[in-house]
Amino acid sequence: MAQVSFPSWVREHVPLAPFTWLHLGGPARYFCEPADESQLQQLLSQAAADSVAVRILGGGSNLLVRDFGFDGLVIQLSSPAFAKIRFENSTVHCGGGVRLSHLVTACVAQGLAGVEHLVGVPGTVGGALHGNSGTDEGDIGHVVRSARLMRRDGQIVTVDAEGLTFSHRRSSLDELVILEASLGLAVDDSARLTKREQTLWIVKRSKQPNAPVRSAVAFIDPDGGSAAALLQQCSVLGLIEGAVQLSASHPNYLVASEGATAEQVLALLDRTRAIVQERTGVVLQSHLVVW
Ligand SMILES: Cc1cc2nc3c(=O)[nH]c(=O)nc-3n(C[C@H](O)[C@H](O)[C@H](O)COP(=O)(O)OP(=O)(O)OC[C@H]3O[C@@H](n4cnc5c(N)ncnc54)[C@H](O)[C@@H]3O)c2cc1C
Repeated sequence: MAQVSFPSWVREHVPLAPFTWLHLGGPARYFCEPADESQLQQLLSQAAADSVAVRILGGGSNLLVRDFGFDGLVIQLSSPAFAKIRFENSTVHCGGGVRLSHLVTACVAQGLAGVEHLVGVPGTVGGALHGNSGTDEGDIGHVVRSARLMRRDGQIVTVDAEGLTFSHRRSSLDELVILEASLGLAVDDSARLTKREQTLWIVKRSKQPNAPVRSAVAFIDPDGGSAAALLQQCSVLGLIEGAVQLSASHPNYLVASEGATAEQVLALLDRTRAIVQERTGVVLQSHLVVW
């Protein structure tokens, strides 16, 4: 990469593994947590001028960083400016860097229904919108009324629901940064919502590996089917590649242990996909975003 001129608060050669749930992968050439939108704009304009590739890091719960790392600028929206939650009647405006768990708790406490079923889904609002995260009870796309986005050139645009498409674990949000989402919720009784949230949390916990810190969801459910059921049907649960395993007890989760590498994860996903395709004809898509 040619000489670039980022400000001094941009760090270099920062290991990305600690930022991901799988704790895998190499370093980012440049890494930064801008304080606000204007710093973010400044960074993007510098990156564009120097032809540096840019990625946005959320909570790292759906991310696989390759072992050689990412030769570009990684930006995390961890500053308070990107983590604001504001209520306006039954609408909640939330920053892209807001933890999904904080959003759920805040909405339930406010007596607003519509996101409580996302309890137990790790990550941020930005990550959830990007991949239209959800559970059997529904996904976040159903309640999105608009999204405030920053383009690669630093321009800020607001797109309303009509301009957005959400499908199973997919969204049309391909602008670089999800700055804020506005969600339309329904007024409900806070105590009732709290009970519902607690019940859903217990169910969700029972479906996740016990130590979820080094785990990830493996595959997206195929149209009208369940990836977990397919994996069970094909007897691939427990399959191992190096120090990475397809969880035997929690279908459709990958679990990494000491010595694991990103390449092992990719090899395990490939091997599993080939077996499932051969036995059922279904081609599974990886749930993980790979950098
Ligand atoms: C134990 C466990 C349980 C899980 N359960 C579920 C579940 O029930 N349902 C489900 O759908 N998923 C689940 N997941 C997957 C994951 O939690 C979700 O996909 C989550 O929404 C990812 O958010 P994140 O902030 O961690 O995104 P990251 O992993 O950091 O990034 C994922 C993608 O989103 C992009 N992104 C993140 N923030 C922004 C932003 N502000 N602007 C633009 N792009 C952005 C990244 O660039 C990347 O492409 C689970 C994962 C784990 C480890």
